[in-house]
Amino acid sequence: ELQPEQHVFEADVSRLLHMMVHSVYSDKDVFLRELISNAADACEKLRYESISKPQLSSDAAQPGILVSLNEESQTLVIEDNGIGMNRDEMIDALGTIARSGTKAFMERLEASKAGEKAELIGQFGVGFYSSFMVADRVDVISRRAGDDEAWKWSSDGKGSYDIVAVDLGAAPARGTRVVLHLMDDAKKYASKWTVEKIIRDQSGHVPVPIRLVEKEGAEPSQVSDGAALWLKQKSEISKQDYDDFYRSVSGQYDEPLANVHFRAEGRHEYTTLAFIPGSQPFDLFDPDRQGRMKLYVKRVFITDEAELLPRYLRFVRGIVDTPDLPLNISREMIQESPVLAAIKKGVTSRILSALEKMAEGEAETFSKVWDLFGPILKEGIYDDFERRSQLLKLARFRSTVSDGATRSLADYLAGMREGQSAIYYISGSSLDQLRSSPQLEGFRAKGIEVLLLTDGVDSFWPTNAPDFEGKPFKSVTQGLADLNAVTGEGGADEGDRQASPEVTAFIDFARSALGEEIGDVRVSDRLTESAVCLVASEHGPDRQLEKLLQGAGR
Ligand code: ADP
Ligand code: MG
Repeated sequence: ELQPEQHVFEADVSRLLHMMVHSVYSDKDVFLRELISNAADACEKLRYESISKPQLSSDAAQPGILVSLNEESQTLVIEDNGIGMNRDEMIDALGTIARSGTKAFMERLEASKAGEKAELIGQFGVGFYSSFMVADRVDVISRRAGDDEAWKWSSDGKGSYDIVAVDLGAAPARGTRVVLHLMDDAKKYASKWTVEKIIRDQSGHVPVPIRLVEKEGAEPSQVSDGAALWLKQKSEISKQDYDDFYRSVSGQYDEPLANVHFRAEGRHEYTTLAFIPGSQPFDLFDPDRQGRMKLYVKRVFITDEAELLPRYLRFVRGIVDTPDLPLNISREMIQESPVLAAIKKGVTSRILSALEKMAEGEAETFSKVWDLFGPILKEGIYDDFERRSQLLKLARFRSTVSDGATRSLADYLAGMREGQSAIYYISGSSLDQLRSSPQLEGFRAKGIEVLLLTDGVDSFWPTNAPDFEGKPFKSVTQGLADLNAVTGEGGADEGDRQASPEVTAFIDFARSALGEEIGDVRVSDRLTESAVCLVASEHGPDRQLEKLLQGAGR
């Protein structure tokens, strides 16, 4: 008889488990989707590894997931014949937190109120550990493909877990069995009706077939066929199918705002099914965050780390499936592949044109997209020179005249005053602060619209986007405002305006008192009520960027 080894959970895991078990949530169903998604991932990993090591699945068994219930013993078992785990992999995968975004999620969760917690948990896949929301003991029995030995991991989710070698004999050759010993108030997860419904609703589109069996030894019934939704004709796919697929591919629970589904058949052949999520993923602003589009080659999952989209589309979720890459391509080689570069270009174009169409035809949906992802899309204005004008066309702004609704640059151009030669903006951290800025006084007096920019990225892109349809962007805090060229009230240019002797005396005083601290002191039309304001020089960084750079200690 082997003695189990006891291990303590990593501190973050204990924290996560504690929070999941003790927060009030209505929707515990998520655990099943998480376990099925892990089982499907394991099958896909096996499919992929078997390309270079066919001996790993030499029995040629079809990949599959089997869910078995036992109402009497109150257990629910999720079993797969995927890649499996060895001892070290178990310790790593089921005792620590590897998944990116989980820490960000936990911070949000800790900071939120009870009611919001439920919603947050619902939106975020909490992975394997969510099984402890319904089970007071979880056993994981696994054999890594190619290994002889098998291991059993077991825990009550309260701080530690045990690992012990187990003798499975010859079968199954590989795979993982997750056994949930259900809590009394989670008994319903041993009932066929409930479990079948959850699987259909949440996991109907995982790319591996799922079968369900009520009692050991009974004949299993198929709940889902594992067919690839993206290969079906659009006309055969309902909105419900799309939404379900989105949830299983993205690990998010919201309703997507749009999908982009097409097959390209030119020089390269590929199918894309991509979604614009209906809420912000938690790690959207995490600097390490990569895109999460999944790459398939002829229906075989290859990786979710290939760069299939530019960074500024990292919120998009979905898949690309192509027959044009060799199945046995290494993950390292993929990124170098010209095929991938061509696909990336094609998919990016289709997504941007879908957004353009939406902006024209479904303004309301588009404004939701912009509210959620505008700050990310704007990164593209300085990252992607080729698509800059396309992105500027999509961009929406608050401005001194926007009054609730947002404005496009086309709106701005249409409202320009006679003689106005630039698109004016002011950037800062809040709309209220910007609206009360003295820098705007002269512009208001002349009826010139000024864009109010409050996103972090707004300090950068305008300095890099020379123009929109021939009109340069200009910060109101920067240099000589050419207000006098614009018809309406107001006087001469700042540079050559004649000042009264009192004002000239004051300017001399200010110049000598402030000395090196400033570049110059000038009479200006930009103010109508305030006496003075600070202005950045014409060619350097604008005021907001100056502040940022100072803050960064540069
Ligand atoms: P994620 O799936 O996002 O990585 P999870 O908490 O769901 O996070 O799972 C953690 C890890 O545990 C997985 O990445 C995988 O390595 C391992 N794992 C979980 N379930 C299985 C399974 N059925 N077969 C093989 N490995 C698994
Ligand atoms: Mg998972």
